[in-house]
Amino acid sequence: MDCPNCGVYNPEERTICWRCDQKLPKPEEPKRRQKDPATTMRRAWILIFVVLVIWIVMTWLLPMLLGNGSAPVP
Ligand SMILES: [Zn+2]
Repeated sequence: MDCPNCGVYNPEERTICWRCDQKLPKPEEPKRRQKDPATTMRRAWILIFVVLVIWIVMTWLLPMLLGNGSAPVP
């Protein structure tokens, strides 16, 4: 970040400016997003949807592709 006093660049981990010894403001900590239950639910539903699609593909589409015409005709 840039020093608010002299404007020189300081590495994020520094607390005091290397140039003017001015205390630097605390760097913005990466805020941990509090888990939003709605978002978690949405993610769960997306996961369920994806699994369902994969399951449908595996059960219906794959035998169709693999057993091309070899299925017994009633
Ligand atoms: Zn400075």
